[in-house]
Amino acid sequence: MVKNSNIDNIDIERMDKEFVWHPFTQMLDWEKEKNTVIEKGEGVYLYDIYGNKYIDGVSSLWVNIHGHNNKDINEAVKNQLAKISHSTLLGLANVPSTILAKKLIEIAPKSLAKVFYSDSGSTSVEIAIKVAFQYFRQKGAKYKNKKKFIAATSAYHGDTIGSVSVGGIGLFHSIYKPLLFETVRIIYPYCYRCPFDLNYPNCDLYCAKEAEKIIAYYSDQAAALVIEPMIQGAAGMITMPDGYMKRIERACKENEILLILDEVATGFGRTGKMFAAEHEDIKPDIMCLAKGITGGYLPMAATLFTEEIYEGFLGNYEDNKTFFHGHTYTGNQLAASAGIMSLELFEKNNLINKIQPLISHFKDRLSEFRNLDAAGNVRSIGLMGGIELVRNKKTKKPFLQKDKIGHKVALKAKEKGVIIRPLGDTIVVMPPLIISYEILDELLGVVYDVIGNIGK
Ligand SMILES: *Cc1c(COP(=O)(O)O)cnc(C)c1O
Repeated sequence: MVKNSNIDNIDIERMDKEFVWHPFTQMLDWEKEKNTVIEKGEGVYLYDIYGNKYIDGVSSLWVNIHGHNNKDINEAVKNQLAKISHSTLLGLANVPSTILAKKLIEIAPKSLAKVFYSDSGSTSVEIAIKVAFQYFRQKGAKYKNKKKFIAATSAYHGDTIGSVSVGGIGLFHSIYKPLLFETVRIIYPYCYRCPFDLNYPNCDLYCAKEAEKIIAYYSDQAAALVIEPMIQGAAGMITMPDGYMKRIERACKENEILLILDEVATGFGRTGKMFAAEHEDIKPDIMCLAKGITGGYLPMAATLFTEEIYEGFLGNYEDNKTFFHGHTYTGNQLAASAGIMSLELFEKNNLINKIQPLISHFKDRLSEFRNLDAAGNVRSIGLMGGIELVRNKKTKKPFLQKDKIGHKVALKAKEKGVIIRPLGDTIVVMPPLIISYEILDELLGVVYDVIGNIGK
């Protein structure tokens, strides 16, 4: 029940439909379906206004790490709230954003030295792109043609115009094409539907060889290459074969192209390492962080840079080398205090080590999905899992878009007490890192049953 007001549950449901336009949602469907209004959370559970309990199977869109209503994070935010909620980072510093920056640099790949704050994954990528561009404008005549960006097919880097320009998901991005800057594409390895029709490892990473050629060709023209390391999230949890990321890193270094890792989804333990870069010891020039940075409590993002890039912006004020960019809530104290506590909980609970056996268990349980007729491909890294549904397993023929299979699976799962959010026909399972074996099994059990009953 909604307390302390004369608005009842039915009113809330009705008012949502009347006033709220939901993100990534066909509102005609939304208006017809019953909406679920969340009122509170506890650990891995979400509760709606009627008191129904759901397992948060996608960590509230990939952000939640330590569970909901975590007392330590609550306490950290409350303590900060009693001091100050927000003061600007334009011309002033503040305590929590300073401490968080130091902590981020301590855990990030060793190449990174400076933290630029913003408030969403999209802005963190926008900042990376603008800095990379400006860096080469200021670096000298030799670099004057470095204006282009290289990105991967089916990439997702956010929803602002710059991040959409480097994005490559037709469904989301194609309509905006007239507004976007041109981007050079390399093929993201999608082994289940290999664009070269080859098989790993016999292919000898032919896709990497092709990417290397493109990177070398654009050596004089490209400022940076932006990529989601080890796994593409929004494209449908597409995992990279071992060795690909290292080859891309090497090619970027050899051709003086800045490597931007978009770790917005993969950062903060999701892939089983603190950052996905660690899987192949990648040393990026720029790294984008958001989603899990506050443990999933408040909006915040950070773009991390090397000392060398930072120094490229130093000069007399009248030289105009300043990075003239900053979002109003940059470095917000409440968000930063949640971020600090989240990192302290990683340390205190030895969380990265602790989840290793859970990750093996997750992988084992996911592999059982291969028995299901509709499960064409099952992919995972760490606690990020995707099950790609197909109409015909042998031919890999997908379902029709109008069948909305992914959407239907999610609705059925919700009836059975599990919240998931599909990516097209790929069912995503991405629980908070603190989920227990029992609840993880329950979550996967529901998803298994629902997928098993498709078409029945
Ligand atoms: C979610 C996501 C973004 C965008 O983050 P927002 O906070 O939604 O703007 C960017 N890149 C990747 C890889 C993401 O998963």
